Amino acid sequence: MAKESIFTRIIRGEIPSYKVYEDEDTFAFLDIHPKQPGHVLVIPKKEIDHIWDLPDEDYQALMATSKKVAQRIREIINPRRVAMQVEGTGVPHAHVHIFPFSTVEEFHAEADMDRDPDHQALSEMAAKLAF
Ligand code: AMP
Repeated sequence: MAKESIFTRIIRGEIPSYKVYEDEDTFAFLDIHPKQPGHVLVIPKKEIDHIWDLPDEDYQALMATSKKVAQRIREIINPRRVAMQVEGTGVPHAHVHIFPFSTVEEFHAEADMDRDPDHQALSEMAAKLAF
């Protein structure tokens, strides 16, 4: 059997995460290396690498949750804009990045992946954003 993705293990609760939202088909949690504070990853519960290979119903559920998360970020953080990005080179489990930003520089900012996660800040953000 293929090895499970780290995100499947997060959905199952085998690895801790800063959960923001969950429903039958999707799961949303804070990126531990945020591009900006309030950076959320939205994933389908089905473990499929490429977003474009998702069955239509899972893709639509992923987009519906992405919209809910973006609206929640607008409500709670009130940024100028909320970005949606899909890259997917880091973890082979489809995921959408949703994060607040104010400037073009912030949109293109890269998180420092070598830095230890700021668990205090992540925990406080999850408490604010969770719905
Ligand atoms: P990508 O480059 O689009 O594949 O992004 C993968 C993202 O997953 C990166 O932004 C990582 O910071 C994030 N990530 C990896 N492991 C975890 C984890 N255990 N909890 C939260 N986010 C993670």
